[in-house]
Amino acid sequence: MSFSANVKQALSKVTIRNQAFIDGKFQPSASGVTMRCVTPIDGSVVTKISACDAGDVNQAVEAARRSFEKGVWRDMAPRDRRDVMLAFAENIDRHKEELALLETLDMGKPIFNTTHVDLRLVVQAVRYYAEAIDKIYDEIGPSPRDAVSMIVREPLGVIAAVTPWNYPLLMASWKFAPALAAGNSIIMKPPEQASLTMLRTAELAAEAGIPEGVLNVVPGDGEAAGAALALHEDVDGIVFTGSTAVGKLIMGYAAQSNMKRVALECGGKSPQIVMADCPDFDAAAQAAAWAVFYDQGQVCTAGSRLLIQQEIKQAFLDKVATVAKELVPGDPLDPGTRFGAIVDETQMNSVLDYIEKGKNEGATLVCGGGQMLDNSGGYYVAPTVFDGVDNQMIIAQEEIFGPVISAIAFESFDDAMRIANDTMYGLAAGVWTSDVNTAHKAARALRAGNVWVNCWNGSDITAPFGGFKQSGFGRDMSLHALDKYTELKSIWMQLS
Ligand code: NAD
Repeated sequence: MSFSANVKQALSKVTIRNQAFIDGKFQPSASGVTMRCVTPIDGSVVTKISACDAGDVNQAVEAARRSFEKGVWRDMAPRDRRDVMLAFAENIDRHKEELALLETLDMGKPIFNTTHVDLRLVVQAVRYYAEAIDKIYDEIGPSPRDAVSMIVREPLGVIAAVTPWNYPLLMASWKFAPALAAGNSIIMKPPEQASLTMLRTAELAAEAGIPEGVLNVVPGDGEAAGAALALHEDVDGIVFTGSTAVGKLIMGYAAQSNMKRVALECGGKSPQIVMADCPDFDAAAQAAAWAVFYDQGQVCTAGSRLLIQQEIKQAFLDKVATVAKELVPGDPLDPGTRFGAIVDETQMNSVLDYIEKGKNEGATLVCGGGQMLDNSGGYYVAPTVFDGVDNQMIIAQEEIFGPVISAIAFESFDDAMRIANDTMYGLAAGVWTSDVNTAHKAARALRAGNVWVNCWNGSDITAPFGGFKQSGFGRDMSLHALDKYTELKSIWMQLS
């Protein structure tokens, strides 16, 4: 079947929700303005989605505030709240095939990935935070016998979450699951490129018993809906995943308004360091290539700077290039496809632009470098490898967010650490070595929130995830995420 025939067939299997979800109901934006939702698979329009602005945001914040003050969620007994969230997780699980289809239609990553990675991890996150609700205790502090010192965690109140298009539902779930577990009411602002799964999930939450006003969704442009949330005087906390440039704006909006709490998960330009004593050369080269080509490189932790020790550089890079050359983009809806589309035309052109910059800066194009599958009407870029990259080049410093590897040679361990840390980002880093001493030294020297040894993207919901430096602050995943959604309160009770 053609790509377009597959798109039509997939559309017949999903429920499209294209309006804002406020106070338990879908409603059009007050202005009536809509945004086109285009699938990158073949460039066709799937639906038009309500584009919310400050007016709709006000309504959503009012609904969230009302639900919070009434205590319909916050004051529910922890075990009951846990049961509702577990029912929510089950409902997502029951609809995971539909949600995976929606995600692939909306942003073009392979259905294999949305099914086996994104949706599996979404269900896992909602279950994990649901289970945490009735298992976390507050603290009793040391005090004289005639006093009681209690240190309790309270929900922040109304949370706004602004999220990106590369893992639309997964990044959203890493926000709404801990926020809800902590007893907050929340307003989600999904990315304009991919709002479908979050809108459908809000309906699944309501079916599972999340009360009206507790989980709201306002689709719309960042400058309109996103900024209105970040500037809102009655939002207590804003959590953001997206680019560093927008993360800085969010900090400014919080400062200009009510000093709402801010947590940012931003961009990366992560180094993978391959030492000459790298174990299992073939497996390492495969993994190093997939660290960039997975989801077409549209991953915040993409290991896009490949630092290889000089004496093995050519042999290792040849193997990486072989993986790249064998990897051809395919129809994202085909279960056999492992390399899909770029989210939209703007992003595809931005990636192609960076490739031109790399060539102009004097890097050597080893393979890839161009658009593919033009006849599909969709947006596809070939896996691309650059050799001879200097760490000061634009392609080594800026986040391309596409399937582009920049290979950089280094001489010594110290050299590698210096180059690896010479970036404004600090999201992830990795080292491939057989020597436990080198591994340990590198893990401590690398300035990044996530360090991987002899693997890439190793993680679990129990391990915190987030950045150093301009990759942001605050952590998603694990019980540490709950810190962002709670205030600590000290209560000192004097006894008679
Ligand atoms: P983006 O910054 O362009 O957009 C992210 C969100 O911010 C979107 O919902 C957008 O509508 C909104 N936004 C845009 N302008 C805004 C404004 N002025 N005010 C308020 N909101 C605004 O990022 P993107 O292109 O959607 O996603 C890619 C970026 O996300 C990459 O930089 C990637 O590294 C980063 N990312 C980081 C992580 C992480 O955990 N650190 C995870 C995934 C993606």
